[in-house]
Amino acid sequence: MLLLLRAEASPASLLERCKQLHIEAHLHRIGNRWAIQIPTNGHQTEALFRYEEVERILSDEIPYPLVQRWEGSVQIGEWRRGSSLLWIAGPCSVESRAQLVEVAYALKEMGVHVLRGGAYKARTSPYSFQGLGEEAIEWLLEVKALTALPLCVEILSERHLPLYDEIDLLQIGARNMDNYQLLQAVALQRKPILLKRNPQATVQEWLLAAEYLLLYGAPWVLLCERGIRSFERSLRYTLDVGAIPVAQRESRLPIIADPSHAAGDWRYVEPLALAAIAAGAEGLIVEVHPNPSQARSDAAQQLTIEQFKQLVQKATALCAALSRS
Ligand code: PEP
Ligand code: MN
Repeated sequence: MLLLLRAEASPASLLERCKQLHIEAHLHRIGNRWAIQIPTNGHQTEALFRYEEVERILSDEIPYPLVQRWEGSVQIGEWRRGSSLLWIAGPCSVESRAQLVEVAYALKEMGVHVLRGGAYKARTSPYSFQGLGEEAIEWLLEVKALTALPLCVEILSERHLPLYDEIDLLQIGARNMDNYQLLQAVALQRKPILLKRNPQATVQEWLLAAEYLLLYGAPWVLLCERGIRSFERSLRYTLDVGAIPVAQRESRLPIIADPSHAAGDWRYVEPLALAAIAAGAEGLIVEVHPNPSQARSDAAQQLTIEQFKQLVQKATALCAALSRS
């Protein structure tokens, strides 16, 4: 088992005690804290649990103890968990100041809680649009100041962290779910993180990635099911709606769905969104563009502002029919 010490607590007295009790102890550094690995058996170990330096005892039998036992409050901007569906929406990529301002004001009026927009894009082809980077972040921050909408932006590299100081919800994209160095660096910022599921990952691997984030300091993690790779090719990915109640059984962390990347085609975004809500998703992240046909990335799947408005209406009616807020 692992004795996880409080942040900045010294392991010296515990190690000394282990020595006196002839308990084999291994010291690890995890983020800004120490952890001591000791054998699971041995009744003397109980004496160690009472040290005030020990914050938690993690047992070897549960693969993701922090995820499993997580409890806390979740709030972002004006949205508080349980009050309504969480709506995160915005363009796939930030393309111009005008595009962002137009979509942000329209979304704000519809009650969207968080504005999304890609600055550095993880594209499959090196020849595809890679995002406007720093300039996009500047416009996002300006629009945040104008609209008071919190921001959700994907982060691709630890090197970009200084630019993300004012970003409210840091997004780990599907391609980086198992980039463990990035997970650690981002979690050390101690901010909420939206964690997309890698299309090749099992639910357990996804929750283990969330465990990294909690262990390294994220206060909460917003799990996001965004479709997995299956043999079926008619949609871009296969939205794994079953993973939503499964993840909810394993953890009280909030979970949302991304119907846009799962569908890859705007015509299927609405049915997938409604299916995810019916399966228990607490919110949605949806790509919305003022003029999708002109989008520089994911043009086929982005909704117009009007289409998004209809989705919000249907989702609200579905929640009412399900007696959910
Ligand atoms: C995105 O949300 O912009 C994105 C690239 O999604 P994913 O990581 O799920 O592919
Ligand atoms: Mn996209």
